[in-house]
Amino acid sequence: MRKNIVAGNWKMNLDLTEAQQLMTQLLSYSNNNKSNCEIYIAPPSIYTMMAKDLLDGSSIGVFSQDVSEFESGAYTGEISGKMLQSISANGSLVAHSERRQYHGETDSHANRKVKMLLDLGLTPIYCNGETLEQRKAGQHFEVVKNQTEVALFTLSAEEIKKVVIAYEPVWAIGTGETASPEQAQEIHAHIRSLIAAKYGQDVADEISILYGGSVKPDNAKEIFSKPDIDGGLIGGAALKIGDFSKIIEGFN
Ligand code: 13P
Repeated sequence: MRKNIVAGNWKMNLDLTEAQQLMTQLLSYSNNNKSNCEIYIAPPSIYTMMAKDLLDGSSIGVFSQDVSEFESGAYTGEISGKMLQSISANGSLVAHSERRQYHGETDSHANRKVKMLLDLGLTPIYCNGETLEQRKAGQHFEVVKNQTEVALFTLSAEEIKKVVIAYEPVWAIGTGETASPEQAQEIHAHIRSLIAAKYGQDVADEISILYGGSVKPDNAKEIFSKPDIDGGLIGGAALKIGDFSKIIEGFN
């Protein structure tokens, strides 16, 4: 059966002292946490190794916010999958909408990154979702279909089962405007049905599909209660232990 997951994407936030403090708080929280979900964080890359050290032995997984599509070489500023593997990171976010918006990332890039991570035994959290214009034009089902097909449908059934998908409508990210649980559920069901049509229902049923976009302590439980929503990818509310822990408890 698929897993429930709550993942915190810290984006480009927190200095060293703040990052250490939040990791320490997460560590003590996770020691007593009985929630029915897996917990991951994706801190800025400069803190990834420290996160691995500080959270060693805990149940909290550590992800990168991005990974290069290339193995190694002259790619200034990039981090490779092998580097992540060598520090025992769990995986990486792929194609977050901010990578798409500010760094020209496409689903073809995402496809190569996802494959690279899987080949190294790491977990990709592949992000997709429509813009406000696309939603207003009624194109959201089509946009998400195209994104999912290009990024993931070259994978084998065994491979795609290991991918986590995060549906993050761009208009709901950092805006305080959340997709309603019903709006999120219908896209999640759509993504799962696309996977079922290509790979079979058994495969589709194994894939965790997270929702991201202004998830907060007061809306998490309702969003997570939907049948095709298997957790959340949390931005702003992942930066405070009080908020993040209440979101995790949305699974209690
Ligand atoms: P917010 O929770 O801040 O809206 O960010 C969502 C997100 O982009 C997580 O990756």
